[in-house]
Amino acid sequence: MKVAMCSMEAVPFSKTGGLGDVVGALPAFLKKQGVECIVIMPYCKRIFEKSGNWEFSLIKKDIDISFNWGQKEVFDVLSSEVIFPGNNSVTYYFIKNDKFFDRENLYGVSEKDYEDNDRRFSFFSKSILYLLKSINYRAEVIHLNDYHCGLTPVFLRHFKRNSISNESFFGSTGSVFTIHNLAYQGIYERNILTYCELGDQYFNIDALEYYGKVNFMKGGILFSEKVTTVSPTYAKEILRPEYGYGLDGVLRTREKDLVGIINGLDYSVWNPETDRKIKSNYSVGNLGGKRDCKIHLVKKMFGLEKVSKPVLGVVSRLSEQKGIDLVVDILDVLMQEDIYLVTLGSGDERYTKMLIESEKRYTDRMRVNVKYDDELARMIYAGSDIFLMPSRYEPCGLSQLISLKYGTVPVVRDTGGLSDTVKDINNEGDITKGGTGFKFKDFAGSDFLNAISRALSFYRKKDLWERIIENGMRSDFSWENSASKYKRLYLDLRKDIKAKA
Ligand code: ADP
Repeated sequence: MKVAMCSMEAVPFSKTGGLGDVVGALPAFLKKQGVECIVIMPYCKRIFEKSGNWEFSLIKKDIDISFNWGQKEVFDVLSSEVIFPGNNSVTYYFIKNDKFFDRENLYGVSEKDYEDNDRRFSFFSKSILYLLKSINYRAEVIHLNDYHCGLTPVFLRHFKRNSISNESFFGSTGSVFTIHNLAYQGIYERNILTYCELGDQYFNIDALEYYGKVNFMKGGILFSEKVTTVSPTYAKEILRPEYGYGLDGVLRTREKDLVGIINGLDYSVWNPETDRKIKSNYSVGNLGGKRDCKIHLVKKMFGLEKVSKPVLGVVSRLSEQKGIDLVVDILDVLMQEDIYLVTLGSGDERYTKMLIESEKRYTDRMRVNVKYDDELARMIYAGSDIFLMPSRYEPCGLSQLISLKYGTVPVVRDTGGLSDTVKDINNEGDITKGGTGFKFKDFAGSDFLNAISRALSFYRKKDLWERIIENGMRSDFSWENSASKYKRLYLDLRKDIKAKA
């Protein structure tokens, strides 16, 4: 089984959120299960320089693709070998076109997308197929992640139909499209189809048209053989208008090919027993190190030597999705409790301002850190007692998985992947049944506060609290399980394609 995993971002080279973590981990776990998997992503020189000192080999030079009916865009292919624990290595291939990809950021500047993202992502989508041909990698599955490569299944079908680009090369290739977040769809003006050399037959309601524009996510959903999303609950939710972001109807047409596979957490990257960036390491049954981490966090944030109050932490993009407004809404009531609150995250200016304003009222007990900082994130995961994640919607969420592993008890809204990964505690009996956190149903301040007070009341009962921590640290969201589900899906797809041939 040969798979090409494609994404705009992947750890260890680049990451803006969960997408980078997922694509950075899944291929190595697939390989462990006997699936041959390469990764294809853009070469983003300035971004890669910030993440490490990487070595690249030049594999192919000056591959040209026709765009805009006859004009050309050119790219080189670079590669790099990434070694994973257990000496498992994955080859990453990079599409190098500096005009499109050598930028300060991956998608835009402070929440504003780059103006040529329509072309950047069209180019990325099409060049994936040319790259595969240039390295003669006959993938049976091209696995596309999010709308940035949503046009790849469209080009693939177009090439096959029109015998463009040596039809037989892709004769036994199918595509899987994974939705990591349905809210970001890539909706652009109609003229992008001219640039893509896709004719008017693609501009209709059963193809890429979306209210007079072109929707790349819709392309991925309709033109790939299988559609996945990153948790079983989110897979059900997005079929409903409240969560469907205008594509629930389109998704319902693909319901039988849509599955939810929960993301794993890479425990070689996220593990309090081995994490070198936290003050002290710790494990189930040996939580002394966690206490050191808490003292260290409180000292760093508030300059205090001692701490008896619970620390509540937030590590999150500041976006509508994450429910930061709910945190701000309840803040004055919440701060009546004897607690510390530490947030880390950047994003939407509105939410940034709201948090900074709130911080001014509680300077001795609240810290707002507006930046992206992996080390501080780890300090917060390790040093907090309670992790807040009141998302409006949550396709999967990695932060709650990290907080569970780091023994920081999550308070989450009961939606998407949060529903699938946190086991709710209402009473002592729920702890015996393996409860790991506190959930609330409605996106309402009173419900959120209620869940936090439930958490705080258990926090005061030390022995029960330790059992909750340990339940969380023991819960297993390792990639093995999810990778085997993807493997099953790829095998089903291969069978379907063979049956059609
Ligand atoms: P998203 O929707 O942003 O992908 P996830 O919970 O799936 O949310 O993943 C977020 C990832 O990004 C986690 O690994 C989290 O620790 C990390 N992260 C988010 N914000 C920051 C930040 N400001 N600094 C460091 N890491 C962050």
